[in-house]
Amino acid sequence: MLEIKQLHAGYGGIAALNGISLKVDAGEFVSIVGPNGAGKTTMFKVISGSVVPRSGAITFNGEDLLAVPAHRRAHLGIAHVPEGRQVFPQLTVEENLEMGAYTEAGRKDWDSNIDYIFQLFPILRERRLQQAGTLSGGQQQMVAIGRGLASSPKLLMLDEPSMGLAPAVADSIFEAVVDIRRQRNLTVLLVEQRAVEALESCDRGYVIETGNVMLEGPQAELLSDDRVRQAYLGM
Ligand code: ATP
Repeated sequence: MLEIKQLHAGYGGIAALNGISLKVDAGEFVSIVGPNGAGKTTMFKVISGSVVPRSGAITFNGEDLLAVPAHRRAHLGIAHVPEGRQVFPQLTVEENLEMGAYTEAGRKDWDSNIDYIFQLFPILRERRLQQAGTLSGGQQQMVAIGRGLASSPKLLMLDEPSMGLAPAVADSIFEAVVDIRRQRNLTVLLVEQRAVEALESCDRGYVIETGNVMLEGPQAELLSDDRVRQAYLGM
């Protein structure tokens, strides 16, 4: 579904991605873990179009994604749930979700999407008329994920959804992502610093460091790899 080849990107003199290559098959749940500054967020920004790479290629369902303007990429079925949630604080929960439903598929599927979002996160139904900026961090993360789901994506990209959340709240977000994948038949690409939870939830993972892939493999292989256990799992 998604194939990234030899991607280089950066900011001025700073190189964030150094020839990274990876792929995600349709229906897979892939996690990308790695330390601060490894280039995870930059990679998502290149996929969704807010950062233009220096070189490399990305195909999405066989199409040359870098030739598609950023504003059209959501219409192809790519939803990017950004780091730091970035909900619209003055808008209500429901209005935030509506903002996600601007794609043709999102408008068409609105009724079933909103039913599913409220089933997944019942607190959002209760709070649907509340301004999103007044919600807790965990609830704002639910809004951000819901807004992504409201576009009826084929690929859901989640950038550090657990950031700043208490462990129990973070766990409930990981459980929600597993549910989304199962119930909505989506492809999921998750970037996380909480390596254990991210790897335990996925089918396959990548460990990235300084803008390149260090290790790649099925979930069980990465979780039992000594380098991963020492560097990321604290064992
Ligand atoms: P984090 O978990 O901290 O978000 P990350 O793995 O997502 O880390 P990126 O945010 O992609 O990493 O950052 C990769 C590199 O690019 C880092 O060295 C970072 O300092 C640099 N960088 C990121 N955004 C910018 C920017 N807007 N301007 C300059 N440098 C940037």
